Amino acid sequence: MKIPFNVLDRQFFKYQDEYEKKAIEVLRSGWYVLGKEVSEFEKEFAEYTESKYAIGVDNGLNALVLTFRALEIGDGDEVLVQGNTYIASVMGISMNGATPVFIEPDQHYNMDIDRIEEKINSKTKAILVTHLYGQASNMDKIVDLCKKYDLYLVEDCAQSHGANFNSKRTGSFGIGCFSFYPSKNLGCFGDGGAITTSDEKIAQRLKTLRNYGSEKRYHNEVVGYNSRLDEIQAGLLRVKLSHLDELTNEREDIANKYLDSIDNPKIKLPKLLEKATNVWHLFVVEVEDRENFQKYMNEMEIGTVIHYPIPPHLSEAYKYLGYKKGDFPITEKYAETIISLPLYIGMTDEEIEYVIKAVNSY
Ligand SMILES: *Cc1c(COP(=O)(O)O)cnc(C)c1O
Repeated sequence: MKIPFNVLDRQFFKYQDEYEKKAIEVLRSGWYVLGKEVSEFEKEFAEYTESKYAIGVDNGLNALVLTFRALEIGDGDEVLVQGNTYIASVMGISMNGATPVFIEPDQHYNMDIDRIEEKINSKTKAILVTHLYGQASNMDKIVDLCKKYDLYLVEDCAQSHGANFNSKRTGSFGIGCFSFYPSKNLGCFGDGGAITTSDEKIAQRLKTLRNYGSEKRYHNEVVGYNSRLDEIQAGLLRVKLSHLDELTNEREDIANKYLDSIDNPKIKLPKLLEKATNVWHLFVVEVEDRENFQKYMNEMEIGTVIHYPIPPHLSEAYKYLGYKKGDFPITEKYAETIISLPLYIGMTDEEIEYVIKAVNSY
């Protein structure tokens, strides 16, 4: 049996009629960018994420870039971010001229709450938490630290649509930055993103920034961007959002089968955090001899991917920050041992069983 790492067409076929009906409706409407579908989606997504406002944008990276710009965080400022996040989180900070300051992750791959305070100084303006792989970060202390030091809280929710901490949605603790890239839990059929906030002023600023700095057409208040969400994507996102809980349950079922049945001392399974939910964007395990394991999985025709092999501080892009190997040992250790197993919508019981058997026979 051949099992790719990810399969995206099955989640389309699952609700094919609804998607096709919506796409045709938008095509025939004569209105294609920032219209009724976008504003309806924004209302529905704000409600889903328990925020007052959602602002649709063109992708997850620009959700972050616009957010730090709206907060006026730039040259000379520092933002704390976990060292093992996807590099786009870091780019959202540095593209505004601010400096990313890395924090080591905890055993759940999220920001280690006991290593934050030591990195806060007078230049620190915000904490950016990524709810990595779909599990909500440990938020209580982070929220407290933001209050104590008067810092903005920004959440990279590109992998955590619908995940909760303390029964509260990720993206509602601070300003939430979402991606709707096709492979994300709430993926569209192209690029898309959104920002959630309950602060009216910030919401207003973001709406202006995404559209050349103008709220009213041809009245440009600031130099802005073109970071708009289009109508087709918003329409299709509305369809998917109406099924998101169902889709999340399906991911959870697969993850639970893996957790219950993978039993191999060489494979370290993901740990669940008390009070947090996990929407299983990725199912990440740790394997000491990863290269060998990946080779074996390839031979079994099972696709695996490493999220992510090079941590941002060791990437070519961030060479200028002057870090070297050994500076963030926990981050680096994860980069050397983690590997993601296939987990996708429409995965059959047979496929799940095949992966479990293969992993257990390694
Ligand atoms: C996907 C992703 C992004 C970037 O989103 P795009 O829509 O691809 O620009 C940012 N942060 C994290 C954690 C991601 O997984």
